[in-house]
Amino acid sequence: MDTKIRLGISSCLLGNKVRYDGQHKYDSWLVEELGPYMDYVPVCPEVECGLPVPREAMRLVGESANPQLLTTNTGKDITEQMQSYCRARVKQLAADHLCGYVFKSNSPSSGMERVKVYPHKGGVASKTGVGMFAREFMNAFPLLPVEEEGRLHDPDLRENFIERIFVVHRWHELMSSKPKPGDLVNFHTRHKLLIMAHSTVDYRKMGKVVAEITKYPTAEFSLLYFAMLMEALRKPATRSKHQNVMLHILGYFKKELSTSEKEELISIIDQYKQNLYPLIVPITLLNHYVRKYDKPYLAEQFYLHPHPAELKLRNHS
Ligand code: SF4
Repeated sequence: MDTKIRLGISSCLLGNKVRYDGQHKYDSWLVEELGPYMDYVPVCPEVECGLPVPREAMRLVGESANPQLLTTNTGKDITEQMQSYCRARVKQLAADHLCGYVFKSNSPSSGMERVKVYPHKGGVASKTGVGMFAREFMNAFPLLPVEEEGRLHDPDLRENFIERIFVVHRWHELMSSKPKPGDLVNFHTRHKLLIMAHSTVDYRKMGKVVAEITKYPTAEFSLLYFAMLMEALRKPATRSKHQNVMLHILGYFKKELSTSEKEELISIIDQYKQNLYPLIVPITLLNHYVRKYDKPYLAEQFYLHPHPAELKLRNHS
């Protein structure tokens, strides 16, 4: 990677003491493991909209789709102050070309989903809200990958999110190079197997659009392609989809591999499908054959190395 990935993040997750109680919510994986690859853009909506540290806690009240932001004890209405800050901050962030965002869960400002919303007359809260800043951000950048720190403890959600922010980073780099149609086709070609691992339907749809690239103005094609790419990669890559892609890769070694080598590879892929091996096991063997038999098309596929091995995202079973 030539440059680090610009990722928005709730400031308290980096260890900044910006919470209402003067504390932080340091997330060691985000800072210590992922941090070296990221150029984090920290945002604390509550502090940046002008509130002090410490401050009175606040919560969402009223309708889930359009709640008020009120302080918990004195009922002070922060809604307008927060909303006008959010509109301005999101406009600023557009210039940062973020590749995604990690939100702090359960926050009335930063929570991405299932934030508590209290009825005006008191009573039990429903977990149906979205933090005010998170809502503004997701409305402004509907295609960008977003996640919450808690959900990133799930290995599958984590891999999917990290894979997507790396794809967006490569896309931003391509866009900043003022690509010609051939560059866009090359980008697609290198992501083909990655897309296939998420959705063969989207893979075919995208293939048709890319085949007709010359019919579009480049800017229009780029918008359409990126939307399709994000839509495809949002779909989970299951074990059976990975099996399908790896058997497809095996087809490139028809001549080189002996019958017993093919059987061994098929067996390892099958054991991965049965949850006996992590994905890294068959992928390592495939990468070995790609190097050994010099397969340039496969060597360039991001499916075989979508993110740094040091992150160990494919090592879980
Ligand atoms: S959750 Fe959001 S608003 Fe609350 S302290 Fe963290 S960054 Fe600030």
